Amino acid sequence: MTDSTAESETFAPPEEFVTAANVKADEYERADADYLSFWAEQSRDLVDWKEDFGETLDWTNPPFAKWFIGGKLNVAYNCLDRHVIAGNGDRVAINFEGEPGDSRTFTYAELLAEVSKAANTLADLGVKAGDRVAIYLPMIPEAIISMLACARLGAAHSVVFGGFSADALRSRIIDAEARVVITADGSYRRTKATSLKPAVDDALSHGDTPVETVLVVRRTGQDVEMVDGRDQWWHESVETASPEHECEFFDSENPLFILYTSGTTGKPKGILHTSGGYLTQVLYSMKAVFDIKPESDVFWCTADVGWVTGHSYVTYGPLAAGATQIVYEGTPDTPHQGRWWEIIEKYKATILYAAPTAIRTFMKWGEEIPAKYDLSSLRLLGSVGEPINPEAWRWYHRVIGGDRCPIVDTWWQTETGAHMIAPLPGVMSTKPGSSQRAIPGVSVDVVDDAGNSPAGPEGGLLVIRQPWPSMLRGIWKDPERFKETYWSRFENTYFAGDGARRDEDGDIWFLGRVDDVMNVSGHRLSTTEIESSLVAHPYVAEAAVVGADDATSGQAVVAFVIVGNNVEDSPETSEELRQHVGKDIGPIAKPKKVHIVSELPKTRSGKIMRRLLKDVAEHRKVGDSSTLADSSVMDLIEESVAKS
Ligand code: ATP
Ligand code: MG
Repeated sequence: MTDSTAESETFAPPEEFVTAANVKADEYERADADYLSFWAEQSRDLVDWKEDFGETLDWTNPPFAKWFIGGKLNVAYNCLDRHVIAGNGDRVAINFEGEPGDSRTFTYAELLAEVSKAANTLADLGVKAGDRVAIYLPMIPEAIISMLACARLGAAHSVVFGGFSADALRSRIIDAEARVVITADGSYRRTKATSLKPAVDDALSHGDTPVETVLVVRRTGQDVEMVDGRDQWWHESVETASPEHECEFFDSENPLFILYTSGTTGKPKGILHTSGGYLTQVLYSMKAVFDIKPESDVFWCTADVGWVTGHSYVTYGPLAAGATQIVYEGTPDTPHQGRWWEIIEKYKATILYAAPTAIRTFMKWGEEIPAKYDLSSLRLLGSVGEPINPEAWRWYHRVIGGDRCPIVDTWWQTETGAHMIAPLPGVMSTKPGSSQRAIPGVSVDVVDDAGNSPAGPEGGLLVIRQPWPSMLRGIWKDPERFKETYWSRFENTYFAGDGARRDEDGDIWFLGRVDDVMNVSGHRLSTTEIESSLVAHPYVAEAAVVGADDATSGQAVVAFVIVGNNVEDSPETSEELRQHVGKDIGPIAKPKKVHIVSELPKTRSGKIMRRLLKDVAEHRKVGDSSTLADSSVMDLIEESVAKS
């Protein structure tokens, strides 16, 4: 069987999982019967509304949607107070594990006190509903506390990934007009204390930002300069503030956050999310896709809060659900390559949610590493961020999930706010490499270039037919770009920018970004399929494929691969891989070149930036790489390519 046709391989969930599952198969029919009543019912069931809403959706001015009209809520109250009021104040909310081995635990009551203190401090600094606060922190509990403190006050946060540069921070502060920045002296990364505060000083040094105050968390204890009248220590202001804070309730459409997309395909967009609809769908996905059982689950989403997965599935989802979660500050190989598995064993994690790039890295390190730990507490696994190659899926299922944990491959975007396409783990058999179908209440389709459905066997463009509760409400301060980017391709239909196809069962397979689609001698080829075929070869650990301009075929397939530790970097290896793809998928897909490289360019959230590889393949100067995790990678790649 080839990996490009893993369609008939299915894995049924264990009996006990099915019996205990939060949602059953009839969920789809109920949602399809009337999707608005379905969402209204979910929202009233899952969210604590201070004042009930009237109309479910106002779509009179598309593409500008409003959900749960007139309803009033406080998102932080939903994440904290209500659990304490319900008598669950002693339940652990966060098990924090620092990279150097320090750990901290917060119960719901303790977390509520911390968030109240931070909210009181921010209110003292003049932050009020409608303002924006920039958060530039490592993965420490204060990041979550700060986000919830903003939500409590009705102010929107703009979290900027702690690894981004001063320039990236500055442009985001200016775009969002943030009044306050919350940062730390530094963070721990690969056992070293790296600094963060100087980047904030640098970002503010031009004097062109509206920032009045910088709150600084002490994490590493390294020396920092504090600017008089502007900078305050968290431990001096927040820690001494009152732990009581009475929250106000805000309109359902009150802005909750602005978050910039990963920038995989171009310049990041400031995506705006609001309160009631966002919280509804995030909570629904916790219930239906993660099958969350707040009394017994220990949930671990490994994403950083700097990207949307960390917003929806570290800060808001698990806490609003009242679950116990793990938050880890560092890298997976510090101090050793078994760190994640050690953490799972220590806290008895039941649900693990991670990115394919991490899974492929663990495969490369070898299965003897996770084998040393007790992973038997796990009952469900999740994947997010990129298509998961069937080979990586099977490894994840067997080695990490002990052949017993269903895998939910969740497709969604910063723009969609929450899961959109994912299997319901207690309802269906899963398929390696496919996200399968839209969650109940969401309507996706695959159309051809002219917008016709179905798109045909070669696949087409992924679109979303109806508004959904957690949809973006716009691009911050740029309604024209919002319309142009997502709503101009087809009328009243959301254009996601991803290529997809349906198999015979109607299940969805991602083909890659529309921007990355290759056209070789008139055939559309999928980056994902060719990459999955390469990854399935025993030599290959990771692969990225691009279409490069070619005089004869229009475009030629060019592959960049990282090979396993014992594989030789030789012309024979490249040739073997070319032949393998030719046999597996067909001669048309055979790469013209296979470059063996030591690293691939990835964003901070672990996504491969193919457009930079395309620049290399077409011998151009590489484009904007400001959101790359490691900027030296492109030099290494150009060197290896020059040699081969
Ligand atoms: P930009 O929009 O600036 O290029 P980005 O699209 O990488 O950045 P995100 O919103 O973080 O920013 O990523 C969403 C994209 O990630 C999706 O459009 C899709 O291409 C990819 N993706 C996420 N999850 C999955 C998945 N489970 N399967 C396939 N692709 C996925
Ligand atoms: Mg995108």
